[in-house]
Amino acid sequence: MPRNDLNFGASTDWLGMQLTGKGCVEELENKIASFYGMKHALCVSNATTGLLGIALAVDLRNTEFITSPYTYGGTVSSWLMLGNTVVFVDIEPAHATIDTEQIGNAITRNTRAILATDILGNPSHSEELRRIADEYGLWYIADAAQSLGASRDGMPASVYADALVISFTAGKTLFAGEGGAIITNNTALYERLIWTTQHPFRQQLELGLNVCNEFGINGRIHPFAANYANANFDKAISNLQRRQVECTSVIELLESHDLIEKTRIHDENILPSFFRLTVVPKMGIDNSDVVSLLKFHGIDCVVSNVPVSVIYQHPAFSNQWKRQNRLANCYEAERQAKERVCLNLIQSDM
Ligand SMILES: *Cc1c(COP(=O)(O)O)cnc(C)c1O
Repeated sequence: MPRNDLNFGASTDWLGMQLTGKGCVEELENKIASFYGMKHALCVSNATTGLLGIALAVDLRNTEFITSPYTYGGTVSSWLMLGNTVVFVDIEPAHATIDTEQIGNAITRNTRAILATDILGNPSHSEELRRIADEYGLWYIADAAQSLGASRDGMPASVYADALVISFTAGKTLFAGEGGAIITNNTALYERLIWTTQHPFRQQLELGLNVCNEFGINGRIHPFAANYANANFDKAISNLQRRQVECTSVIELLESHDLIEKTRIHDENILPSFFRLTVVPKMGIDNSDVVSLLKFHGIDCVVSNVPVSVIYQHPAFSNQWKRQNRLANCYEAERQAKERVCLNLIQSDM
């Protein structure tokens, strides 16, 4: 909803303020950093640009990284453009996130990073990913575009990553038209990110007056978006919490009637953000069985396909990255792309 009380900070020179990352941009970064309990949040124009910025900042080019193929293409697009080779590791069944037990076998002498997506808002096993990255000396970067507000063992999703990226585009927890943020505890990395993604005014303010990189990417957030995100932050989080309660009870109901494969969200103390509410019906269970059980309990829903497919099966992937098409056999990802379904709850009070 448009607001006419736009606040660009104390200065009337709000245009300059946003170039330096002050005013509404600083306000939003503070909110995000404290939400995650992490040192630095850096707003960017969108999550895709954030992932590009990270690759530039840690010089991830012409090398190799590990990710799971059950994700949105934008997770890997910028890293592929930088000449990197992707090595796909399958997902684990309960959460559709990367299977940490299979990562060890996929690491080669060229591997430099693990890129883990909290797909569908399911937090990946961040603590274990951290341990593996440390053991092998890899960067651990998280695509947390769908998981703002999700948690695992009481900690925010992907909190142990060297850097994680969130998105404020349509459908994400916090909507701001466009926008995103990179969150990190690594101050050296944060400074490299300022250098590669932000305006020289901000570089000078935070890195020193003699610093001026005009040769980076213009990756800063639009001030209108930052302002909108500030105004809607608390509401977005409370809306999310309501959805989390609702979706969790749907899952409990379906699990207690043995209609769906185990989600293990209780056993593993996981609270997804439910970017999508998805389930895998058990063998022999029809979607209509799921719908009618929910209906019996006063919950209306419509079943649809999950808008995620296996990256290496995309025509546009093989078309552009043919040489990357080393045989990936991620059978669990391929199975879930067929069998996982999306439950769209219909609010009866609207
Ligand atoms: C939305 C999304 C992105 C891209 O976010 P933008 O802000 O639109 O660039 C990347 N990865 C995943 C998993 C997403 O859901």
